[in-house]
Amino acid sequence: MKAHVDKDTCVGCGLCPSICPDVFEMQDDGKAGEIKESVPESAADTAKEAEDSCPVNAIEVE
Ligand code: SF4
Repeated sequence: MKAHVDKDTCVGCGLCPSICPDVFEMQDDGKAGEIKESVPESAADTAKEAEDSCPVNAIEVE
């Protein structure tokens, strides 16, 4: 399973790292990014939750 943040779409709300800090972080550009593209099994559920919760649908987890 891989995670990707579309930085052009992200509005930097900070929600995804708070839901799934193993995969997402806020970066120097004020946008979210992936800590690792490959989602660890242990974080699969929260990564999916972050994808569903992003207010601008900037996250793809598949
Ligand atoms: S939840 Fe969406 S808009 Fe908010 S920081 Fe994460 S990717 Fe950006």
